Amino acid sequence: MSNTESKQHPAGSLNPAPIVQGKCNCGSVQVAVAQPAFEGAAHALCHCTSCRTSGGTLASSNLIINSEFITLEGSGLSLKSYRDSNTDSGNVAVRWFCSDCGSPIRTVVEGKEEVSYLKTGLFPVQTLPAPSVELFSRNLESFEKLQEGVQVL
Ligand SMILES: [Zn+2]
Ligand SMILES: [Zn+2]
Repeated sequence: MSNTESKQHPAGSLNPAPIVQGKCNCGSVQVAVAQPAFEGAAHALCHCTSCRTSGGTLASSNLIINSEFITLEGSGLSLKSYRDSNTDSGNVAVRWFCSDCGSPIRTVVEGKEEVSYLKTGLFPVQTLPAPSVELFSRNLESFEKLQEGVQVL
C-alpha cells in the first residue's frame, strides 16, 4: 500500500492550516485558532468596569478574532455564558467561561457574534502579539501605564 497524502487527511484538507491551541485552567475547555488569524489579531486591553469585575483584574486582555477561525474543543460541558447587560459601552456582552475552573474564555457582543474577544491568558506564554489598542482608558488607575504605541480609546 502506497503512503499517499490522501491516506493522511480527509478529502479537501490536504494542507490543514496550522493552529494555535489554548485551554482553561482545568483543561475542560480547549481552544484552537487558525494560526494566521491568531498572529494577525488585534490585541486589545479593555479597562471597562465589567471586564475588571469578570476577570478579577484591572484590564482584560483579548485577541479580536473573527469567530469562524476559532474552534472550541474538549468536552465543552463546562462552558457557560453570562449575559452582561450592565456595561460601560451599553452593549450586551455575552461572557463565556469555564464553569469548572472559572477561566474566562471569550466575550461576544450580542448581535455581533461573528467577532470574538478571545482571552489571551488561555494561550502559552510568549506567543502573543503585542497590544495594539486600549479600551476605556479613562478607567486607568493612577499607577497604571498605557502600553507603548497603542491606540487609546
Ligand atoms: Zn476549566
Ligand atoms: Zn471590557
